[in-house]
Amino acid sequence: MIAGVEDALLPVLPSKPASTNPTNEVAKRLTGRDYISWSALSTFRTCPLKYKFRYVDGLREESVSSALIFGTGIHTAVEQHYQALLSGDPKPDLDALLFAYRSAWLPHEPDAIQFGSTETRASLDDLAARMLTAFLASPSASVQGRVLGVEEEIRGMLVEGVPDLYGRVDLLTEDADTLVVTDIKTSRGKWSQEQVEDSGEQLLLYSHLASEISPGKKIATRFLVLTKTKEPVVEEHVREVEPGNVKRTLAGVERVWRAIESGVFYPAPSTMNCASCGYRAACRAWAG
Ligand code: SF4
Repeated sequence: MIAGVEDALLPVLPSKPASTNPTNEVAKRLTGRDYISWSALSTFRTCPLKYKFRYVDGLREESVSSALIFGTGIHTAVEQHYQALLSGDPKPDLDALLFAYRSAWLPHEPDAIQFGSTETRASLDDLAARMLTAFLASPSASVQGRVLGVEEEIRGMLVEGVPDLYGRVDLLTEDADTLVVTDIKTSRGKWSQEQVEDSGEQLLLYSHLASEISPGKKIATRFLVLTKTKEPVVEEHVREVEPGNVKRTLAGVERVWRAIESGVFYPAPSTMNCASCGYRAACRAWAG
């Protein structure tokens, strides 16, 4: 029988023992952090020089894209909804979710925000209201089984010789036989199957670490996609974890770490990478 959401009582997750991974010290010397994050790995794969500016040199970005702030705001709002399910509080209404969404804009100087050619802050706020309305009306606003964690910290060694992976799982749920690791995404449109497959690596790594939480259960990854279309829709893409895909992803992580450790930093310019990059001036000034 599937347990109800009201079964979710804190604390449900065991505390983690301190890591003894010796490579964490190497990461700390290089970046000041004794771990590696998916965001760092993914930045390196996008552009190794951008990785260096952000994680090794600690350079502040000259600008930040509105899409990044907008996505953070939607995340914050949706997570607040699930946090209420976890703690048993009344579900927040649309106004409360919009308040949470707006908080993502507060730390940014308006002049440093890079808007798209057809966007304004008002048009994005209007879009956020439509997306969150669609979310609240969707089946995804309820949870099958019980909520184990929201923005749940996860950390552990993936491969020997690579620092611990540290991350936050947007939503962790379980029913009678499956642990589900959910990532919340905003997207310009509905996702194709190729997009689901191409975006799965982060969740595969998190699911690998999360497998210790509920030993013996199947593990599934789930993307919750809110589209930024005129009439927003909420999609779910659920997949069972295949061990072969985890192995391939771990091999990729190891190669990326080796390159980082060796200081292989070079620019990878492309229209897609550079248009929203916050380090364009630093990149132009880079002489090798
Ligand atoms: S401007 Fe382009 S090439 Fe330069 S650091 Fe940014 S993403 Fe890399």
